Amino acid sequence: MPQPIIQLEGVTKRFGELTVLDELSFDVMPGEKLALIGPSGSGKTTILRVLMTLETLTAGHIKVDGDYLFHMKKQDALIPADERHLQKMRANIGMVFQHFNLFPHKCVCDNVTLAPVLTQGANPQAAKKRAMELLEMVGMAEKAKSMPSQLSGGQKQRVAIARALALNPKIMLFDEVTSALDPELVEEVLNVMRMLGRETDMTMLLVTHEMSFAHDFADRVLFFDKGRIVESGPPDEIFTNPKEERTKAFLRKVV
Ligand code: ADP
Repeated sequence: MPQPIIQLEGVTKRFGELTVLDELSFDVMPGEKLALIGPSGSGKTTILRVLMTLETLTAGHIKVDGDYLFHMKKQDALIPADERHLQKMRANIGMVFQHFNLFPHKCVCDNVTLAPVLTQGANPQAAKKRAMELLEMVGMAEKAKSMPSQLSGGQKQRVAIARALALNPKIMLFDEVTSALDPELVEEVLNVMRMLGRETDMTMLLVTHEMSFAHDFADRVLFFDKGRIVESGPPDEIFTNPKEERTKAFLRKVV
């Protein structure tokens, strides 16, 4: 029986008085494609940000590939993770953001090579070769020398995906990656994600408003409201036969 690659146990996140994640527990299996859906403000993005260690937890535990994300074992006790542990754990995970977050003063190729060279000590020549392979994969090799400002939103997002892949993560997080795009550019980014789903065994978590994409792509859908999972299951079940009233109401509005 394979072990989950991600385990959340009683994960709680508060910002001041506001409880954004409310004792959340769920597992993700290796290679699983998970779609997180739900109303705005229900905590979906916060889950991805916590996994990327961009936020800390108020309570609970997360394990990634068997290791605690925010804690390390010392003798028999769990102590808070130090920066070295966090860096090691971050190497498991790549994230793609709604607003691309490319380095504006670096060309496309440098955007992809920077992290492997700086954080993993990759050889610059080898990093460049790998970057060109990844850019080829997302259909952006011809723009390797372009600056981000010269690209369309869809092209920027494809570069951002290549950049996240350059660190060879086991897990990829996609945070509303098509929400900032003009409608005619959405499909080129979804196609790259479909290709990754088909041709790699990466675990993928996506927060999305593209319900038909979530339906076709995901193995499992989690519907969130107010920092809790209201309902989860295979896409066919959630989208065609939701059980909970809140899920039905949400889907009536967005589909
Ligand atoms: P979703 O992705 O489902 O729209 P988010 O995870 O982005 O929801 O946000 C959940 C709630 O947490 C929202 O009410 C948001 O305003 C709040 N929130 C997110 N980040 C912060 C922060 N850094 N400080 C205070 N409140 C935050």
